[in-house]
Amino acid sequence: MDYQGNVIRPPSETNSIILQVTVGCSHNRCTFCGAYKEEKFRYKDEAIIDRDLAYAAQHFQRHRRMFLADGDVVSIPQHRLVPLFQKINCKLPWIRRISLYGNSRGLRHKTVDDLLTLKALGLDRIYMGLESGEDAVLASVCKGSTAAQMIAAARKVREAGIFLSVTVLLGIGGSQGSTQHAVATAEVLNQMAPNQIAALTVIPIPGTTLYDDMNRGHFQLPNELSILQELKTLVNHIKLDKVQFQANHASNFLPIDCRLERDKSITLARIEQALAGAIPLMPDYMRGL
Ligand code: SF4
Repeated sequence: MDYQGNVIRPPSETNSIILQVTVGCSHNRCTFCGAYKEEKFRYKDEAIIDRDLAYAAQHFQRHRRMFLADGDVVSIPQHRLVPLFQKINCKLPWIRRISLYGNSRGLRHKTVDDLLTLKALGLDRIYMGLESGEDAVLASVCKGSTAAQMIAAARKVREAGIFLSVTVLLGIGGSQGSTQHAVATAEVLNQMAPNQIAALTVIPIPGTTLYDDMNRGHFQLPNELSILQELKTLVNHIKLDKVQFQANHASNFLPIDCRLERDKSITLARIEQALAGAIPLMPDYMRGL
């Protein structure tokens, strides 16, 4: 398979065939993100994708899932995306689930009908980065979308019946804005109504603007207890009947994997125990983004 640059996939796509159809991210400006810094966003040549599909058809006949990389495949115009999905169906008819990353900027150009067409062709899951529900935080990290735009994008995905997984970033509101960020994020999540929420903890990466901001004193990372408090506020304010909530990424201090609303009181009690020092936190040397 042809992989150019940094190819990143969500943890739940470990067993998927990774087909890289774009390189980089069309936005590439989020101050905390170092994923595609060196890459200029581009669509890959059709001939390369065709070669990869032929290879996958020959070697991955037991795989049932495919993830389309890189950062923002949903931004590919519909007239190119539909033939790509048709080709996948034709060459690998055993694939049952196709997933991709989609940010709200890319989703702005897709109608519910576009998404329904893709769903009929196998698009099962979209991973979307909300990061924060607070507009001031979104603007400060150059996310390129407002909370209202994120909600609108999420509603389209849900209306098309596509599984929506949303990522939020603990700590990105800084130490002063921690509670406000957690409350606003929960409120926006409540309106997005995703199937899954993944909470990561921000770790400023050398080479990113956020890292420079931190070193210049313009951004203060909350300490681990503040992050736990933020997690508690977030969980407490999420009011969704049925959502998988995961904070078990390598960046987190306290691994959590639960179903809300069902497991809310157990989860809050676990965070309380960690705050009181009764549950050890992940040491920094074991954490990473
Ligand atoms: S949209 Fe996603 S991949 Fe692109 S720069 Fe922002 S966080 Fe990184």
